Amino acid sequence: MTTKLQQDVGVIKGIGTETEKKLNGLGIFTVKDLIGHLPFRYEDFKVSSPEELEHQERGTLQGVVQETPVVRYYGKKKNRLTVRMLVGYVLVTVVVFNRAYLKNQLEPGTTISATGKWDKHRLILTAQYISKEEMQESSGLEPVYASTANVSVRHLKQWIQTALHEAGHEMEDLLPSALKEAYKLPDIVETMHEIHQPTDRIALKHARRRIVYEEFFLFQLSMLAYRKKQKQEEPGTPLKFEESLLRAFIAELPFSLTSAQQQVIRDILADMALPARMNRLLQGDVGSGKTVVAMIAMYAAVIAGKQAAFMVPTSILAEQHAKEIEERLTPYGIRTSLLTGGRTEKQRKETYQQLAGGEIDIIIGTHALIQPEVPFRDLGLVITDEQHRFGVKQRRTLRDKGQHPDILFMTATPIPRTLSISVFGDMDVSKLNELPAGRKPIETYWAKPAMLERIVRFLDKEINQGRQAYVICPLIEESEQLDVQNALDIHAELEEMLPHQTVGLMHGRLPQEEKEEVMRAFSAGETSLLVSTTVVEVGVNVPNATVMVISDADRFGLAQLHQLRGRVGRGSEQAYCILIADPKTEQGQERMRIMTETSDGFELSERDLKLRGPGDFFGNKQSGMPSFKMADPVHDYRALETARSDADKLVNSASFWEHPDYKALREYLEEKGALEHQTLD
Ligand code: ADP
Ligand code: MG
Repeated sequence: MTTKLQQDVGVIKGIGTETEKKLNGLGIFTVKDLIGHLPFRYEDFKVSSPEELEHQERGTLQGVVQETPVVRYYGKKKNRLTVRMLVGYVLVTVVVFNRAYLKNQLEPGTTISATGKWDKHRLILTAQYISKEEMQESSGLEPVYASTANVSVRHLKQWIQTALHEAGHEMEDLLPSALKEAYKLPDIVETMHEIHQPTDRIALKHARRRIVYEEFFLFQLSMLAYRKKQKQEEPGTPLKFEESLLRAFIAELPFSLTSAQQQVIRDILADMALPARMNRLLQGDVGSGKTVVAMIAMYAAVIAGKQAAFMVPTSILAEQHAKEIEERLTPYGIRTSLLTGGRTEKQRKETYQQLAGGEIDIIIGTHALIQPEVPFRDLGLVITDEQHRFGVKQRRTLRDKGQHPDILFMTATPIPRTLSISVFGDMDVSKLNELPAGRKPIETYWAKPAMLERIVRFLDKEINQGRQAYVICPLIEESEQLDVQNALDIHAELEEMLPHQTVGLMHGRLPQEEKEEVMRAFSAGETSLLVSTTVVEVGVNVPNATVMVISDADRFGLAQLHQLRGRVGRGSEQAYCILIADPKTEQGQERMRIMTETSDGFELSERDLKLRGPGDFFGNKQSGMPSFKMADPVHDYRALETARSDADKLVNSASFWEHPDYKALREYLEEKGALEHQTLD
């Protein structure tokens, strides 16, 4: 038996086949979907008095029509209706455009209410809405719905009301009653009525509170339940490795691990030793020493007889990591190799064969690693660095190359806690919240372009003391060509201003070998100054570099500036970051200030998030940010955390999987595609 809720929207009076198609375009297929189409805001028709309203504020005034309205026509079909009404003792002029037909309805003596923008000085209300009804009765709140150009919002609203009236009572409440009671949340039927036809502000507030909580709760529950199932159904392979070998390797490192590194390594090794598959996110601020952690994890996998893959976003970074890993691990008999788009066909073929034959233990590379023809003999561990730069699909492809390999994501973009729960809710998270000992905080300055000469003198001084520096060129969106041109110009300018120094040049258009050579020369200290586009943004590690100059710094996001700044301060010398910018907007200036105030990536990202909002945080759709109808992970983070912990308790209780009380909830999860995965993995 199908209920009205489950029927196609076409059953609602007024919705024909054509309209039905249009509604489908809005994601509305069933009556239930229609009811689930929530308003994105409310129009406030609460009646105000003229004294209460500010100049240019929106509001509703109610008064008595004094004289017959006047209509003026101009242009084709355009007109303007003016009506005077007395509000208390104030004579207000109401102006409405293109609604001449109202003239006969607004007879002198009728009470009307008009909503629009208030001109306090001229006592004119330019109205969008005008109505003969007295508004005191209702809450004065009218839902406003999103629609598309070809479905009228007015009709949509009508249909929703009809659907609610005819089928609203059939809505099934998914929230367990214990939770509703605990948080005093209204039930679903009441909630939906309140959302679509608010009776008063307080009731609406509670209805929204429920929707927000429910959205978070269901999202977290699907994620956690999926993860639980996945752990049961596709167990990973427990890896066995001789810990004394790892200890020997760690003892031979030129530095001692920070306690944060030790903790993270313990977490990772414990995961790898378990039959369940590791799904862990390692967040570590720039310079916190993630590479060596990755190295130790990969070494452990190899000791256990497996292969490990390390995927990074750029070939420069792949080169650098490959070199470092090779240097450190070859002495222990580990065979490493590099795979990037820059390798020749022949080199690649050879690498494939060695991978398939198990002659390579650790492979480091770019997305070239995930081409379908890349074979592995027995891939046991996959690590991706700067994981947010890869799409969800790319990461999955890599993972699917092994027999349930363990997965470790590493990121230096500290993800604010709020977002990390919503986006990575299904992962275990480790943090490297400690920099290696002896690091001095980077001193950051914000300079105006006019100060260029002083900056160059400063560079000169630092270089003469044996240090090195980067100068990063402005980023010109969507045009690598222009980025390159910029880099060329700045390079020429600096060579002229610093004739005694060696200035290198790096940009994305250089052929692969040249890039490698430029990077090698800078690493080796043969060039003192490196002018570069953002290709050096991630991961590049030249500890002797102490100055980072970023030109037109206001063109970069905070996370990116922080990444760039992280290229210096990687050794024991005092490091500096100079942001050259003259931002015109308040927000731009605030960003520069934040950079000078903090070098803690986590604090920075929290502040960035507040400044920009969650949608923009990752800057792209690939990030897997879930979208909610009403809930906002930043604004409603308390609800998010509560929902998260409630969902966690529930999936881990035996009764959830059996008790009839949770049947609807279980069915909901089932319907979502057998606990369909909604996030990154
Ligand atoms: P990131 O986390 O930004 O990837 P890296 O792994 O590149 O950082 O490490 C930054 C620098 O710090 C490297 O030169 C690395 O060799 C060094 N390093 C890593 N761990 C330590 C440590 N425990 N003590 C001192 N230096 C360290
Ligand atoms: Mg790194």
